Amino acid sequence: MKKLLLFVLLAISFTVSGQGIEKYFESIRNNTAALTAFFSQMPKGGDLHNHYSGSIYAETYINFVVQQDYVINENSLDVKPGIPKDGKGWVHFSKLNDSGLLAVYKQKLIQKWSVKDYNGVSYPSDKQFFETFSGFGVANNGPGQVDSGLMELKRRAQNENVSYIETMFTTIHCDAKIADTSFNRLLEDAQRNHDEATTTALLDKLYKLAQDKNMLACATAHNEMITKLHYGLKIDDASFTMRYQNYVVRVAPSADVFKSLVLAFESANTCPLVVGVNIVAPENDEVSMRDYWLHMQMFKYCHQKYPNVKYSMHAGELTLGMVKPEELTWHINAAVRTAGANRIGHGADMAYEYKCYDLLKYMAQNNIPIEINLYSNEFILKVKDDQHPITLYKEFNVPIVISSDDAGVLRSNLTDQYVLLAKRYQNISYSDIKHFVYNSIDYSFIKDNEVKEKIKSQLKERFSKFEREVMETHPEH
Ligand SMILES: [Zn+2]
Repeated sequence: MKKLLLFVLLAISFTVSGQGIEKYFESIRNNTAALTAFFSQMPKGGDLHNHYSGSIYAETYINFVVQQDYVINENSLDVKPGIPKDGKGWVHFSKLNDSGLLAVYKQKLIQKWSVKDYNGVSYPSDKQFFETFSGFGVANNGPGQVDSGLMELKRRAQNENVSYIETMFTTIHCDAKIADTSFNRLLEDAQRNHDEATTTALLDKLYKLAQDKNMLACATAHNEMITKLHYGLKIDDASFTMRYQNYVVRVAPSADVFKSLVLAFESANTCPLVVGVNIVAPENDEVSMRDYWLHMQMFKYCHQKYPNVKYSMHAGELTLGMVKPEELTWHINAAVRTAGANRIGHGADMAYEYKCYDLLKYMAQNNIPIEINLYSNEFILKVKDDQHPITLYKEFNVPIVISSDDAGVLRSNLTDQYVLLAKRYQNISYSDIKHFVYNSIDYSFIKDNEVKEKIKSQLKERFSKFEREVMETHPEH
């Protein structure tokens, strides 16, 4: 009876003032363990900036290559399905097991395929990060691996009270060649002069070639693969939903990037489960930097062909020292103003952007959210604490969503991003954070409005339950 009375009083006090949880939250603001306990249980809505392959932990990939008895090069730690013809120094995992060395090599691979034990000195952190992908690619592409990968992401999300993932799943493969290399040169010439008319005319020709060569069939095959996987694995259930983005790799030759982009848009235009398009790979790579203007024109072009397709773009994942200062002034600007991005990923160089106040206002007025990836920015860019522009985005009311980027490679999770957020930015309150969580569903690219509304109403229930439980456990607040 006493307990019931206390509960009723707590419920009333919370409903009336809503301050109990805020007070408790402020009391633990500088305690990492208490924040971790708090945010592990807090409903976190969606993770909108999530790379499928980088979100899987290295252990999963290692289990796969060991089970398949792939071979590893003892020096380079490269892994392949079988011993290369003239290769030296390769050994089967079963042999390592027989000689008692398997555990040692497993540890070495975890260090190679993630940032575990990285000492911050002997190798550039951005290289350490991005090179993991080519290492575990052999496992990621292995037969049946994708099933366990998707289930791993789902299980982790459910454990963290995450109800939705919008994962950057894959790029679309299509063997047919779109054009010979002369097209790349023509596109580069047009880019050099920032000649939009010539660029559009060239893209028109390429688009027609893609249609003539029946390349769009590759998008259809891709959609069938995703649909089969998604429903076969029963990914969606009463408490969890997953949707997919196609991505293009920005370091490829320009005509290939365009081909890949057309397929990505075509697929997102026709499959209910594929809700968006993205562009990935290191933004400071030589090709990414050289072709950035061209890529923006490509997105603009595809948007005109497929006006209903949504896209988020990695933009401004750069900082001073990484590239020339003038290169920090225009990537986010171009992504939102020229390419028409619906969301921006990272946006870490905002403070350096040309007329950044105007840009921030533009993003706020046009409801273009920023996907904030705190630990990723700290590891790859060394941008953290008050160097990070999150407070600028907040000041200008740009919608903020908190996301994980590559939790597997970074040996992190979504909960940890909220812990960093609360510890580092003391002006961001619990109700702000709750708002960010709702943003992660409001600004998701989910196509079916009913699904979106269902997740939102469940989120409300989850928050009520969470807050009630926190207050029951900490009645002094
Ligand atoms: Zn990313």
